[in-house]
Amino acid sequence: MSALSAEEAFLAYEAVRHRLPPVAARAGGFRRAATLEELAEDFDVFLLDAFGVLNIGESAIPGTPERIAALQAAGKRVLIVSNAAGTSHAALMEKYARLGYRFAPEDVITSRATLLAGLNGQRGLHWGLMATRSTGLADLEGLNLTYLEEEPGPYAEVDGFLMIGAAAWTDARQALLEAALEERPRPVLVGNPDIVAPRESGFSAEPGHFAHRLADRTRIAPRFFGKPFTNIFERAFARLGPVDRSRVLMVGDSLHTDILGAQGAGVASALIAHWGFFSGQDVEAAIARSGIVPDYLVDRP
Ligand SMILES: [Mg+2]
Repeated sequence: MSALSAEEAFLAYEAVRHRLPPVAARAGGFRRAATLEELAEDFDVFLLDAFGVLNIGESAIPGTPERIAALQAAGKRVLIVSNAAGTSHAALMEKYARLGYRFAPEDVITSRATLLAGLNGQRGLHWGLMATRSTGLADLEGLNLTYLEEEPGPYAEVDGFLMIGAAAWTDARQALLEAALEERPRPVLVGNPDIVAPRESGFSAEPGHFAHRLADRTRIAPRFFGKPFTNIFERAFARLGPVDRSRVLMVGDSLHTDILGAQGAGVASALIAHWGFFSGQDVEAAIARSGIVPDYLVDRP
C-alpha cells in the first residue's frame, strides 16, 4: 500500500462522514495559541493523542517530552487517548518511555483496550484477526484467534473479524475478506478507526481505511472502537473519575478523529497545526472545508 498524500487522507475522511459522529453545533471560531503552555491555566486535564502530538512514527516531536513533563509537574492530569490497536500495552509503555515520556500504564487509554472491553458476550467466538504477526498477541490471551493471511480457509470458517493492525494487510487479503462477508455476513470489530497515520515518510493506511472500504462494498456495518467514537472517551472518563468536563482539553492533530471525538464527548479541543496530519498544509482551509472547528488551533504541542 503506497503512502497517501495529506489531501488524499483528508478527502478519505470526508468521504466517510456518514459513518462518523455528527459535528457538534457550536458558536464562534477557534482561538490561536503557540503551545499548550498557553492553555495550561484554563484546563486541569489534558487528553493527548499520540501520533502527531507526542510522536511522528518512532520519533518524539522535539520539545514535547519537556512540555508534557512541565504540565505534569504543574499538577495537571495528563492521559494519552490513542487509537493504538496493533501494539500491546506493555510495548506501548516501553515506546513512550523510550521517547522520553513518563506515563503510568493506567493513564494510557487505547482503542485496543476499548475494543477488548467491548467484546462482552462475544469473547468466546472464533475470531479472524487482521494484525501484524511480529507485534504478538499480548493482551489478547484467552481469545480464539486465527490470523487472516493468504489462506482462504479462515475467512470462511471464523465467527467474526477483528481489525487491529494493517501493516501487513494487502489488497488480496481485503478481497478475501469482502468476498467472505458477502458469502456469510458476520460481525466486524475495528480496533482502530484511523484511516491514516502520519509516519516519517508520509501517511500509512490504517485499519479504518480497510473497514470503511468493506463497509462501502458489502452489507456489513463495522463496529468501531476508538476516536472519534465516544467509547474510548467513556473509558478515559472512567479512569479520571469525577471531573469538571469544562476543564478537560483533548489535544490532537486530526480533525476527523480527535476534534470530532472531543466534541461528541463534550470536552474542549485543540488542533495541532504544524505537526502531524496538517504539517505543511493549509489547516485553516481544512477546518472551513470540514466544518469541524476546534476550540484552539495550537502551532505545536
Ligand atoms: Mg494523531
